[in-house]
Amino acid sequence: MISIDTIYIDGAFVTPHGTERFDLFNPATEEVLGSVRLADAEDARMAIAAAKRAFATFSRSSVAERIDLLRRMHTAVAARADDLLEAVVKEYGAPSSRAHWMTDHAASVFLDAIDALEHYEFTRQLGKATVVMQPVGVTELITPWNSNAGFICGKLATAIAAGCTAVIKPSEMSAWQTRIVTEALHAAGAPAGVFNIVTGRGDVVGAEMVTSPDVAKISFTGSTVVGKGIVRASADTLKRVTLELGGKSPTLILDDADFDVAVPLALNAGFANSGQACIAGTRILVPRARLADFEARAAALANAMVSGDPSHAETQIGPMVSQRQWERVQGYIRKGIDEGARLLAGGEGRPDGVDKGWLVKPTLFTDVRNDMTIAREEIFGPVLSIIAYDDEEQAIAIANDTPYGLQAYVVSADAERARRVASRIDAGRVLVNTLSHEPKAPFGGFKQSGLGREYGVFGLEAYLEPKALLGL
Ligand code: NAD
Repeated sequence: MISIDTIYIDGAFVTPHGTERFDLFNPATEEVLGSVRLADAEDARMAIAAAKRAFATFSRSSVAERIDLLRRMHTAVAARADDLLEAVVKEYGAPSSRAHWMTDHAASVFLDAIDALEHYEFTRQLGKATVVMQPVGVTELITPWNSNAGFICGKLATAIAAGCTAVIKPSEMSAWQTRIVTEALHAAGAPAGVFNIVTGRGDVVGAEMVTSPDVAKISFTGSTVVGKGIVRASADTLKRVTLELGGKSPTLILDDADFDVAVPLALNAGFANSGQACIAGTRILVPRARLADFEARAAALANAMVSGDPSHAETQIGPMVSQRQWERVQGYIRKGIDEGARLLAGGEGRPDGVDKGWLVKPTLFTDVRNDMTIAREEIFGPVLSIIAYDDEEQAIAIANDTPYGLQAYVVSADAERARRVASRIDAGRVLVNTLSHEPKAPFGGFKQSGLGREYGVFGLEAYLEPKALLGL
């Protein structure tokens, strides 16, 4: 049994003031893996105080010193890849191909931050003014459970690149992954207080930090509803806020698309990370004239997908992270049926032959209208909707008819046509005929998918304040 009894404040593992214990589960078996002792508001205050003390010195560190620290952090996190992989599979339930990506990503984000930092001009001349980019202050970094280690490392790497100090509030459901990452980061030898990690409840530890006058900036990844609450709660202290929230991303299959490419791409865009992905392509827009062919191929592929034990190599879809999440996804499947959508694959209940674990059948609906609940709300599970369209204009209108705007996918045999369509989609990222990621490019959402951007230069600038000096 895993027992996590410390948090990380001011360069040391310490026993939290909070005493509540929280069980950690293996979602594939529903067994308790162990438990974590949660931090409370007093722990949050101590962590903020440590970060504030460290900021006085760290904010004046040189770029070379920060690059050196980021390199050490990369090495230290990469050295724990095997441990992290085990935790990501057992504590979160990521299928092993996804788990490998998540583990590699947690280390590579430090190199990405170095790349942004090496090329960044902190001082520039604009007319008579010298404009200096100054670290914003103590930052609060809040992560969700669906890629906890990657978000801890990515947000921290950017904060450090900028010369900020950090208090990290990871998801309480990912405490094992957090523990491994914390040990690795500790081994990298950062100055005390530069980063602090306090695992606790969002409405206790998170809420304390969101209102603290000593926190200058919040970087939050999580649900839209909590993100909106953070904006409201942080308004009194006018914090800088970056929000990476939910999505309901469209995958536009244009009428010239090669279905040998389009069908697997659309399903992989939707089912990636077991559907527990903010960027999941959950609304698949298909030309009505080719609908029957698309449905037949997509149904065959979805029915052949293996939803099961994430440690098995053939598993493509792992369990939902918690019973609550499983029930939520089941509720959406029921709702889809009740609202008149037609099941092509999957449906309610566990996959055949599975009687334990929070596993969901890969579920594909067709005859979905864009005003149905399953087309409007983020489900965060392996449940996809096919929506038919009559022409390109209508497809673009449906794609943009959503409160979200995080990511979109366009599939076409004609690159120029795909570019034209992509330019009209309101989303922070549009992927044309690909599922690839680019860490130099900004990541974030239009509309209610968030505020601001992460990654690369755009991400770095979110941790900096411009200061204009005149008369020099
Ligand atoms: P969540 O919003 O419930 O929790 C996210 C984090 O916020 C957790 O650490 C939680 O403890 C904390 N939190 C909760 N209440 C808080 C409060 N009042 N003050 C401060 N912190 C608080 O989200 P989740 O269920 O952990 O993750 C799933 C959600 O995250 C989905 O909606 C998904 O779309 C989103 N997500 C977005 C991105 C992106 O980059 N846009 C990436 C991954 C996940």
